[in-house]
Amino acid sequence: MLPVVALVGRPNVGKSTLFNYLTRTRDALVADFPGLTRDRQYGRVRRGQKSYFVVDTGGIVETELGIEEQAMRQVNYALEEANLILLLVDARQGLSAGDEAIAERLRKTGKPVLLVVNKIDRADLAVVAGEFYALGLGEPYPISASHAIGIDALLDEVEARL
Ligand code: GDP
Ligand code: MG
Repeated sequence: MLPVVALVGRPNVGKSTLFNYLTRTRDALVADFPGLTRDRQYGRVRRGQKSYFVVDTGGIVETELGIEEQAMRQVNYALEEANLILLLVDARQGLSAGDEAIAERLRKTGKPVLLVVNKIDRADLAVVAGEFYALGLGEPYPISASHAIGIDALLDEVEARL
């Protein structure tokens, strides 16, 4: 079984954008790979010698649940099976209570987490990432999923931890 990297975070932080970028989607879906649960969206990442799954837990939208509850449910899915969790936050919105709630839950589990600050569309915006140190999850990794900024550095760190 390949390692699994789960993307978690509030709605609209850019999880699916990052997922699509990493997996270049469509043929990346691996619904027939044994051992994977069907209700999450999986894609395979191949980079150099490394190969792993990335899972976008945000695909499961249960409309009867509130946003916070949904995000927490996604965190629980991720905790079940991920070897590494990427918590995405939105640099444009800044630190939010929802981010703090998710971060607290993740800190309690002891699973390895990387904090990813998305929507840093210009490199000079990376200073914004600093405020997310307050989440207590270590160094924030600034990226722009839509502009393909910071992804190589992030993946180097991901792969070092798998
Ligand atoms: P999800 O709900 O976490 O899966 O978020 P999505 O991937 O659906 O993205 C939510 C919105 O943020 C969409 O309009 C994306 O185009 C936008 N978005 C994602 N990444 C970036 C980014 O790096 N920069 C900017 N400016 N917008 C982004
Ligand atoms: Mg999504």
